[in-house]
Amino acid sequence: MGPPSIATLPYDSLTDLLTFIALLGFWPQNRAMRLLLVEDNARLSDLIAGGLAKEGIATDTVTTIAECLSALATTHFSVVILDLGLPDGDGLSVLQHMRALGSSTPVLVLTARLSVGDRVKGLHHGADDYLGKPFAFEELVARVRALLRRPTAYLGRELRLGNFTFDVEGREIAVAGAQYALAPREALVLEVLMRRANRVVPKKILEDQLYGLSADGSANAVEVSVHRLRKQLIETGAHVAIHTVRGVGYLIKEELS
Ligand code: CA
Repeated sequence: MGPPSIATLPYDSLTDLLTFIALLGFWPQNRAMRLLLVEDNARLSDLIAGGLAKEGIATDTVTTIAECLSALATTHFSVVILDLGLPDGDGLSVLQHMRALGSSTPVLVLTARLSVGDRVKGLHHGADDYLGKPFAFEELVARVRALLRRPTAYLGRELRLGNFTFDVEGREIAVAGAQYALAPREALVLEVLMRRANRVVPKKILEDQLYGLSADGSANAVEVSVHRLRKQLIETGAHVAIHTVRGVGYLIKEELS
C-alpha cells in the first residue's frame, strides 16, 4: 500500500483545513515583517536599520534591555536581533525572559563574544542563530531571511510524539530507553515535521531548510531524507509514521501498530 494521497488523507475537521491554510501563510511575502534591533552602538544600529530598510524590512531600534522589554510587551516582531553587551545588563537575560514567557519569536544574537562556550550558552538560552562581530551585512540579511522563512521558531530542545523523544540539539531520538543518532539533514527534517506534528508541512518549507545543508543541491534532497527517516523510525520501533501528501508535502503523526 502506497502513502495516502490528499484525497484519502483524513481531514477530520475544518480545523485541520484552517491550520493548513494558516501554514501556507508562513511564506514571508504574506506577512508584515517587523524586526526589533537591540543594539547600544548608535552607529552600528543606524547602519543595520538603514540597510534592512533598503531590503524592505522595517526595523524598530532600542538600546537597552528595559526598552527592549517594553517594546516586546506591546508589539509583535517577526525577528529580534539582540546584542549581548548592553548598558543595563547582559542581553541573554532578555532571551531567558522571552523564552520563560513562552515567546517563540526567533532571536539572532549579535555579539563580539566569539567563543564556542558563549555560542553554546546563547543557544541553550533559546537563541535561534548567532552572528559574531564584525560581520558582512549580506550575511546578516541572509540569516534574518532564513529566520523569517522558518516555519517555527524556538519551542524547546526536546520534542515528543507517541513513544519517542527527539533531542533537537543532540540530534538523537530515544525510544524505550534506547538512543539513536540522526544525520544532520534527517534531524532537520524531523525537527520541522515534529514541530508541526499532525499537520501537513509543505515540501517547499523543507526544501528551504535543507538548502543550506545540501552540498550537491540535489532536487530530491527532501525525498531522500524522508526515505531515510522512515527507515530509521521503523528500525527504532517508534510508533510514528511520516505520510506523503502528494503535491503538497509531508506530515508526521502517531501510529499505533
Ligand atoms: Ca553592545
